[in-house]
Amino acid sequence: MLTSTEVPMLLQRLHIHNGYRPLHQPRFYYYRSAFLLHNELINVWTHFLPIVLLAYYYVIPEIQSETPRFPALVLHFGTACLMAGSTIAHLLHSRSPLDHVFWFCVDFAGIGIWSLCIGLQRFSAEHDSGLLFDLLYLPSLLIFVIPIQFMTTTVFFVTRPHWKLRHLIRLLACLIMAIYLNAPLTRRFWTIPIETSPSLQMHSKSFQWLLVSGIFMGGNVPERWAPGIFDLVGYGHQLFHLCIIMVAWNLVDAAHLDCDLETASPFLPKNLATLIVLFIGIGVIFETIRRLMRIAKEKYQ
Ligand SMILES: [Zn+2]
Repeated sequence: MLTSTEVPMLLQRLHIHNGYRPLHQPRFYYYRSAFLLHNELINVWTHFLPIVLLAYYYVIPEIQSETPRFPALVLHFGTACLMAGSTIAHLLHSRSPLDHVFWFCVDFAGIGIWSLCIGLQRFSAEHDSGLLFDLLYLPSLLIFVIPIQFMTTTVFFVTRPHWKLRHLIRLLACLIMAIYLNAPLTRRFWTIPIETSPSLQMHSKSFQWLLVSGIFMGGNVPERWAPGIFDLVGYGHQLFHLCIIMVAWNLVDAAHLDCDLETASPFLPKNLATLIVLFIGIGVIFETIRRLMRIAKEKYQ
């Protein structure tokens, strides 16, 4: 494996000195690197194993149940996109600067789809949220997830990767969006004491884990205190992955409690609207990546 000085600046992680895979190897080398020791190994497995567990403990039982609940399946789809995007990004990004940009755009796409699905599941599963809320929530969800979170993250990542403010803007955008994703729960948080509601406790825990994840994501801790020591195990992004598992785990368990049989059918007006918004969101995300990759190709090829 290479040291940080032997790889392009774009591929260097702050305060991580060793364990970089060589560039320009055949694609198969990077697939095989899931079983080699390098500084992305833990990032690959911490988001791959949850896909297997999600399928086994949540998706398959849901599909095999008498009445599969559409809102729960929407959330599971989003969670799988998040974990799969992250796994493949950490596995394949080291091949070249252009691969790095493309695969992390795929990673950000997974985060965007997951965020959209969290909002959609909460929207679909809530009862009596009011007509005005129902009409306004979905368009505003698209605005909070796509331009505010996804586009600010990806556009600055492609056009100004070394801009220091980029990380702060990304954290703020994620925080604003995460607060907005809680909007469908507001009525319950106001009317039901949290100690009597296991699902509200899980929603609250998921938000707390998200805040903790921001510390590791934005702070580059603990590696900034001992550069070179945490190169293979224990650096901030790996801890961030663990926090995101806790966020996702609390969310799927909360959804399991929140989604009842009344909201299960995909043919309910609310669920059909959810499906349309999901398709629009995914379409805009992929079109954004396609356009950004044109800029990236001019820059890095
Ligand atoms: Zn990651």
